[in-house]
Amino acid sequence: MFSCALRYLSSYINKMVPEVVFVLGAPGAGKGTQCSLISKEYGFVHLSAGDLLREERQRPGSEYGEMIEQKIRNGEIVPVEVTCSLLHKAMQKSGQKRFLIDGFPRNKDNLEGWTRVMSDKTTLLFVLFFECSRDLCTERCLGRGAAGSGRSDDNLDSLQKRFNTYLNDTMPIVEHYEQQGLVRKINAEVAPEKVFEDVKKAFDACGLNQLTN
Ligand code: UDP
Ligand code: MG
Repeated sequence: MFSCALRYLSSYINKMVPEVVFVLGAPGAGKGTQCSLISKEYGFVHLSAGDLLREERQRPGSEYGEMIEQKIRNGEIVPVEVTCSLLHKAMQKSGQKRFLIDGFPRNKDNLEGWTRVMSDKTTLLFVLFFECSRDLCTERCLGRGAAGSGRSDDNLDSLQKRFNTYLNDTMPIVEHYEQQGLVRKINAEVAPEKVFEDVKKAFDACGLNQLTN
């Protein structure tokens, strides 16, 4: 009787633990586009680490604004204390329990910081990894810049730096999760709706259901 109650309680607590999908891929691979589609169809809250940092940069009185701008322009990665606290706050504020964390963790510092603060508070379901060639990604980001993205890092100089950071710092994180069997690789070189077909397979295979409205 007691053990049954205990099991019920632990399953109840488990259901309360927020579930997280990390979304990684080169700059311009299409993380944001796919996250919007996933969020609509599966009811996950889309949290882009880059967007949260850009918002914090704009926040009047932010003590991190200048540091964030400099890092973003140089394609470098903001210290995890800042990013992780923005993510944590956004998760709490949403009152929801399923999150797509887009563009994070991007390096060892990010991974260690998240593990320290958040791994006990969340369940990582899997890591979506969008594969796309450097040439195509560069073309997309430059196109986005020319079309008025307003981003201070959608230019050739910043893009070269972002790519170096991606190859040197982010790929080892993808490999780390790959060794744990958590990476779901998606070909991101085709049209968004085609990419989304594969994304859906990853979600469906995890037993996650599409919203029914
Ligand atoms: N960034 C960071 N930490 C993160 C996510 C982003 O420092 O966890 C910074 C980094 O400088 C990066 C920039 O924000 O180059 C833009 O990131 P975003 O994910 O918006 O770019 P994307 O990869 O989507 O093009
Ligand atoms: Mg993005």
